[in-house]
Amino acid sequence: MTESRTQGGYRLMAVHAHPDDESSKGAATSAKYAAEGNEVLIVTLTGGERGDILNPAMDRPGIKERMSEVRKEEMAKAAAALGVEQTWLGFVDSGLPEGDPLPPLPEGSFATLPVEVPTEKLVALVRKFRPHVMITYDEHGGYPHPDHIMCHKVSVAAFEAAGDPAAFPDAGEPWTVSKLYYTHGFIRDRMVLFSEEFEKNGQESPFADWLSKWDPSRGDLMGRVTTQVECAEYFPQRDDALRAHATQIDPNGMFFAVPLEWQERLWPTEEYELAQTRVTTAIPETDLFTGVSLDDETVGVGEQATS
Ligand SMILES: [Zn+2]
Repeated sequence: MTESRTQGGYRLMAVHAHPDDESSKGAATSAKYAAEGNEVLIVTLTGGERGDILNPAMDRPGIKERMSEVRKEEMAKAAAALGVEQTWLGFVDSGLPEGDPLPPLPEGSFATLPVEVPTEKLVALVRKFRPHVMITYDEHGGYPHPDHIMCHKVSVAAFEAAGDPAAFPDAGEPWTVSKLYYTHGFIRDRMVLFSEEFEKNGQESPFADWLSKWDPSRGDLMGRVTTQVECAEYFPQRDDALRAHATQIDPNGMFFAVPLEWQERLWPTEEYELAQTRVTTAIPETDLFTGVSLDDETVGVGEQATS
């Protein structure tokens, strides 16, 4: 696969539920587009206040008590590692409910809000940042967390509403986003490939358990992928961003199980599904901005087109 490079000058908005999601889903793509001279804005819908400490080394006094600040500090480090801008939409993490029956979500938390409340805030941000492309999760949230499902609903609603002058008239001048993509959860084909590589090297695959529990009725997400962005050059930045979320990511865990060299050689891309487009493109794609023209914008303030 030949690597496609953008000309620069595009704007990409990736909408995520919690701090750390931007580093585990599409992080190398974000770093790549930023490095190529495009503006990349990560929108984090909630503060991640209810995240558990998933790294044993960080499970120590003083961390849990100030989780909200800790996650802000981690997020700032991760954004710096990726070379992207990041902003908070200011909603409260709903937490991942556990138990049977599931307990109700905490009052006032993100996933309990009427969809139009966060949608209006996101529309205001879209109209201000004016992205050509937006990225969010698919309808299953990529992972069954109520904030992820809500992230999908709010992003799709904002994609629809941002260009409509009748929608949220107090949220700024309308801006039409050209394309909307979904980033998916784990791609089975990729896990199988890495598992085989572990076996070839006489090592036990860390994904064997995950693969053995695979429910084939779910279908393979690869069937929905329309766009593979080559971004292996940015995997080290992705890993730095992941490590910046020190309370959430165990440096000895699954995210770091596969040697970088294998990833670069066997699976050098990140995967997306083109969910909606208002421009003409051809599938499969290797670039999220395919079909998006900057021509309308090259005539900026103080410049007039000659005809
Ligand atoms: Zn999340």
